[in-house]
Amino acid sequence: MADKQQGNSKRKSAPVDATGQPFAVIGKPERKAERTNIVVMKFGGTSVADATRIKRVAGRIVDARKAGHPVVAVVSARGDTTDELIQMAKEISANPPAREMDMLLSTGERISAALLAMAISELGHDAISLTGSQAGIVTDTVHTKAKILDIKPGRIRKALDEDKIVLVAGFQGVSTANDVTTLGRGGSDTTAVALAAALGAEVCEIYTDVDGVFTTDPRVVADARKLDKISNEELLEMAASGAKVMMLRSVEVARRYGVPLHIRSSFTDRPGTWVVEEEDHMEQAIVSGIAFAQDDAKVTIHDLPDKVGVAARVFTVLAKAHINLDVIIQNVSAGGTTDISFTASEDDLGKIAEVLNGLKPELGFTSIDTDKDVAKVTLVGAGMKTYPGVAAKMFEVLAENDINISMISTSSIKVSCVIRREHMETAVKALHAAFQLDKDMVKREEVFS
Ligand code: ASP
Ligand code: MG
Repeated sequence: MADKQQGNSKRKSAPVDATGQPFAVIGKPERKAERTNIVVMKFGGTSVADATRIKRVAGRIVDARKAGHPVVAVVSARGDTTDELIQMAKEISANPPAREMDMLLSTGERISAALLAMAISELGHDAISLTGSQAGIVTDTVHTKAKILDIKPGRIRKALDEDKIVLVAGFQGVSTANDVTTLGRGGSDTTAVALAAALGAEVCEIYTDVDGVFTTDPRVVADARKLDKISNEELLEMAASGAKVMMLRSVEVARRYGVPLHIRSSFTDRPGTWVVEEEDHMEQAIVSGIAFAQDDAKVTIHDLPDKVGVAARVFTVLAKAHINLDVIIQNVSAGGTTDISFTASEDDLGKIAEVLNGLKPELGFTSIDTDKDVAKVTLVGAGMKTYPGVAAKMFEVLAENDINISMISTSSIKVSCVIRREHMETAVKALHAAFQLDKDMVKREEVFS
């Protein structure tokens, strides 16, 4: 037994994600595709919302083909289609079977792919649309939140060899049990990035309705600035902290497989934001951006016994229920008990209560408290690694604006504060100004004076 354990610890442990599940492996590393001149283009829902836009996107794809690139385009459902499909299900059932939700939701992307194939044919080019399953996207069996396990790009390659433009319905795959699955909201990004990895694409272009990644949401701060470059790590933190640029999982896959990403507008030809390896990210700003999330809730478990293994038990059970958590704090213990607070998506509150109440007899805590009226504001910047004082400055700015901080969490490239939701906009505006994010390349002395 001891021997075996030692043997195991010497081997590189298999990577796991936040839920403790094995990280999706798209082909074995040794099967990592060689770089080709294939371009993967992903178009979000607003880019294909109506016939005119679909025709415009078709033109863009044909232009890339004419420039000599084999093109694989991944599409989202048109406009609000996914939300409408969810609404349809709700009118029938309060708790629809997840398998049937996937059958339903996967249709939105298929509509877009087929229409786009028609539009490309109209332009005189050969095109074929494929479902996720036909495109060889194999996932696990977790319906509505499936993870890609493998990509078998044979059919796509064959179509490209036949000089066809390939349209792939995003956000879906086929499970190892042969059922249709979907990848979670925003999942078309992951389809695109994973295909780009499997095909060794030159670039994965994410076409969206904004010009790229901004220092913060321009709807909150009018002088938010588009970034020309952002590092992988920074984008990962931004996505994890609530910035709606790209689905978190897709950024993880891009980083893991070194997929070059270009996030840009489908309405202009202007270059967008390139996502680069940190070494290439020369102009290292102290703070690159501010992300915020308002759909998080704070959960507090009161009076947990302050014993070895209690936190492990709580969070293992939550992870097994596929609940993603973020900021976690454990209070100072008093009289042998302690409180633990964490944040999680508001949508998961029902499930969290169910899971924790199931543990109550075993752990013997007194009560659970939930607070939906919170928001999390996060400063992200690779430059923080070497500049002390970012957290202090952030707290100072919040204090000057009379904003109380209820939770804090940091990593080497981010600082997050959980505050009352009503203060979120004020906080983002004040921080954007204080760190002078409206200006290009601000010197450290100017911010910390
Ligand atoms: N249509 C899906 C959604 O709205 C997937 C996607 O657009 O990426 O979440
Ligand atoms: Mg999206």
